[in-house]
Amino acid sequence: MLRINRDVLFAALRASSLLGAIIWLHVRPNSFDLTAIYWLLGIFALYSLLLYAMVMAQPVWAPKLYKAFLLPDVIFLSLLVRFTGSTLSEFEDAYFLLVALHTFYYQSMRAGLVTVGMSVCTYIIFNWRSFGFVHWSDLVLRLAFLFLVALSTGFVTWEIRSAHARLAEKNKSMDRKLNQITALYRVSQELGKAETQAQVQKLAVEATSLLLGAPAVYLMRPEGRRLQFVAWHGMDENQLEGRSVQTDEGVVGKVFRSREPQILADIQAHPDSALADLDKGCNLRAVVSAPILSENRILGVLNASRLEPGSFTNEDLELLGVLASMVASALSRTEQYESTRRQAITDPKTELYNYRYFSTVLEEYILNKACQQLSVLMLDIDHFKHINDTYGHQAGDEVLKQVAATFAAAVRSIDVVARFGGEEFVAMLPECSIDEAIQVGDRIRSRLESQPIQTCAGEIKVTVSLGATSLLEGESVQELISRADHAMYKAKESGRNRVRMA
Ligand code: GH3
Ligand code: MG
Ligand code: MG
Repeated sequence: MLRINRDVLFAALRASSLLGAIIWLHVRPNSFDLTAIYWLLGIFALYSLLLYAMVMAQPVWAPKLYKAFLLPDVIFLSLLVRFTGSTLSEFEDAYFLLVALHTFYYQSMRAGLVTVGMSVCTYIIFNWRSFGFVHWSDLVLRLAFLFLVALSTGFVTWEIRSAHARLAEKNKSMDRKLNQITALYRVSQELGKAETQAQVQKLAVEATSLLLGAPAVYLMRPEGRRLQFVAWHGMDENQLEGRSVQTDEGVVGKVFRSREPQILADIQAHPDSALADLDKGCNLRAVVSAPILSENRILGVLNASRLEPGSFTNEDLELLGVLASMVASALSRTEQYESTRRQAITDPKTELYNYRYFSTVLEEYILNKACQQLSVLMLDIDHFKHINDTYGHQAGDEVLKQVAATFAAAVRSIDVVARFGGEEFVAMLPECSIDEAIQVGDRIRSRLESQPIQTCAGEIKVTVSLGATSLLEGESVQELISRADHAMYKAKESGRNRVRMA
């Protein structure tokens, strides 16, 4: 758009100068050779038209075309000056306009000086005969003025151009900042929606990679005296899964202990990297690392890397700090949320699920018909009252915990085991037939029978009785559980330490 406007402006300028010359020739009393001048103006009009047509046909060539047509322009002006009085010609002023225009168009002093040079040469070639009429100092003065015009226009345009560049640079940095703020706002919204720490961790590494333009990002969290990889972006899962470093090891360890963020120009040139194999393997060079701090508690370390050494700036460090503090508050919020939720669904003594949670899950399974068959196992410790009475309540608790652990370890991860109450436990086994449920029950029974439990009061031999049932069509949770309970009582009645079905 701008190109077309500029081209139209050039064409209009040419047309109006042509018109101006014709008017000037007619209003000013003179004795010039008008035929020669009109021929000249005609030629000027023709090649101007040609120039305009070529520019319109190939707009990308416009700068080159304008440059190429500079020569006919200066020749035309020199001839016009010659036919209109040579050194006394009033058209000499047109040189100033041409030099200024050309310098401005190309925004360079060099373009102005080339125009001056060419104008001076053609002026001398076409007008040297009349030089005798004019004083040499006058001629030098006129030419010096031309140079002055080129220099001053060149300087002004250079100023404009550099101001333009400065403004563009400022604009770019403001755009970048605005984009960062918008992105940070989005990240904070996403983090606000996250419900688990795992979600927060994943979001944290992805957002950090995006905002910092860092291809490799990882997040480590403390576990005892070690820092564990918990989330990463752009790195090999096989190299990181389950990996950890000591809290006093390497750069992450330093950031963890000092709780101060850090920039490293080149990790591979650093003497104490604890993850040298990883840095080399992924070709990581520049590193920026920030602690994740929440109310004086350190929750982890967020680390970003680039492949070009020394490419992180203090601005990047600040941005990572902002991200780390957003991640910190999201982590502590989800940590609290997860712990409240865990407390609400677990039995504190055995760390199994509580019966409220168990019945909710079972009800959902039944309502959604989530599986083709479903079995339930009910377990009760035999003569537990006697154990309490003989060994004490504390030893009884330890037995309870050990039986719970044995039960949980004997089933699959999709099975749900809960404390039913007192010394009774219940498990739901999806996609499990009654026969398979009896087998599982018997495995638990024989394992407990054969392994006495170590307690504070010594070894205690424990047996359990189990009831197994499978869900019937149209049966409710209560009905299913009460049948399992009934089966368990059958096991008790028939002598304990056995599995019965209902
Ligand atoms: P049976 O073989 O018929 O099941 O006999 P039992 O003694 O196991 O059954 P009973 O229901 O008479 O006794 C259960 C005992 O479990 C009574 C109660 O004090 C004890 N108990 C319930 N909850 C806990 C607990 O959390 N810790 C301890 N140590 N004992 C508990
Ligand atoms: Mg009981
Ligand atoms: Mg019992």
